[in-house]
This record gives sequence, structure tokens and C-alpha cells, in this order.
Amino acid sequence: MNTRAEDGVYALRYATRDASVRGEHFYGHPEGCMDAWPIHYYMWAILRGKTVIVVDAGFTREEAARRGQRNYGKSPIDLLGSLGVEPHEVSHLILTHLHYDHTGFVGDFPAAKVHVQQAELDFWRSPMAKRGAYSHLVNSADLQQITRLEKDGRLSVVDGDFDLAQSVTVHLVGGHTAGTQVVRVATTEGPIVLASDASHFYENYENDKPYGVVHELSLMYTAFDKLHTLAEPDGTIVPGHDPSVPNRHIPMPELDEAITQLHPTANEENK
Ligand SMILES: [Zn+2]
Repeated sequence: MNTRAEDGVYALRYATRDASVRGEHFYGHPEGCMDAWPIHYYMWAILRGKTVIVVDAGFTREEAARRGQRNYGKSPIDLLGSLGVEPHEVSHLILTHLHYDHTGFVGDFPAAKVHVQQAELDFWRSPMAKRGAYSHLVNSADLQQITRLEKDGRLSVVDGDFDLAQSVTVHLVGGHTAGTQVVRVATTEGPIVLASDASHFYENYENDKPYGVVHELSLMYTAFDKLHTLAEPDGTIVPGHDPSVPNRHIPMPELDEAITQLHPTANEENK
């Protein structure tokens, strides 16, 4: 067992996909749509004293093999281990939404309360979720696992914004999916806003360009506005899938090459 890393907010990169083009990732017909556009897969950990909050649950090595093209590194569970966190020590798991790359280890935190938006849960339980362009975005076994958690009384189904714990607040934005939520961590130096897939890349919120997978386009734009409001004036917005997150923050190779500590002011300095 590793000793616990210092209190902070960490991005853990568990997979990458390099054989990916720009046209997959931006709404409409973006310029340079056949240009290479790698995507990285993260989950996040917030360490606050004894409280460990995990944001999203990644996907498994098996899911990576099934979908192909993805390079799988250390699993989210192993990366948490590198932070000195055992799965049973996680007190809260926030699911920003229920796409397959955010739910893979949802059943692997035995003591965690799991937080999801009602609108998100309702959509994935509706007949529409069975249609092709939607169904391939989720893992049905993960959704069944979420139903088991609900039966066990471990699922916190919320409707709108809520105050979680330890200066961590959660905000419903929608747009990418019916109930996408983002996480704001207040620190003494400014807020860290974990956008997850409300902004996959820096280019989404910085240049007001929606992502290619859209539930409701207008809400994707208002989600960008909300991210700016939550972060300003002295905070940082951390996108969900951008390979350059480590360049704008603090890589922690002493823990693992896939771990980056997020910092409210590192963003502007390293742009
Ligand atoms: Zn995602």
C-alpha cells in the first residue's frame, strides 16, 4: 500500500486513443475534419483529509479490447492505488454522466455513495436509449450495476445542483447528455472546475465549439457559460478528454506518469 498523496485534485489518465480524427469530435463539419485528433481518457480524485471523492469510473480493459483502438494503461483502480487510495476508502463517487467511459468501475467502490442526476438516469432507462446512436455509448452491464446500487440504497439520485462535502459542489448542465453534471472544487487559491464531458477539449469551451456527441445543442453552449461562471475570476476549467491537461498542470511522475495534480493557476501560465 502506497502512502496517501497530499490533499489535492488529481487527473488520472487510464487510456488514450490516437487513431482518432478531428471530425469525430466537433459538432457539424469542422475544418480539418480528417486531421489527427488524439483523445485521452481520465477520471479524477479529490483528496481532502480522510474524505476521498472520485469523479467518474472510467472503462475497463475488457471494454477497451471490445471497442478496439484504445491503448489501455493502468486501470483507474491501480492509479488510485498510486495515490495511496484503496477502493473501500472512497466515500463518494460522482458520475458526471453514464457513457461507457465514465461508468466502468461503478461497482468497485464498496463504501462509496454514488451520485447521478435524475434526468440522466431517466434517459438511459427510456426506450430512446435503445436506439443505435445512443446505445453504443453505454455499457448495459454498468447500467444494471447502477440499478443494483440503487436497490442497495447506495445511489444518490439528484435533481439539479447540490453541495456534496468539503467545498465540493456539483452542477447540472446537460447538453452532452440529458443529465451531464460538472464538479467545482473550491480551494484557497481558486476553484478547480472538472468539466468532464461538458467540455471534452480546451477548444470546446475556449472557442465556443460544441462536441460532436450532442443531446441538446443549446444546453451545450449554456454549459460553456456555466463553466466560465463557476471558474472565474481565479479558477481553472479542466476538460474531460484533452491530452494537454498535463501540460497545463503539474505532472506527478513520482506517483505515476499518468497522474497530474490540478492547480487553479497553472492553467494560464502553461497555455
Ligand atoms: Zn467521456
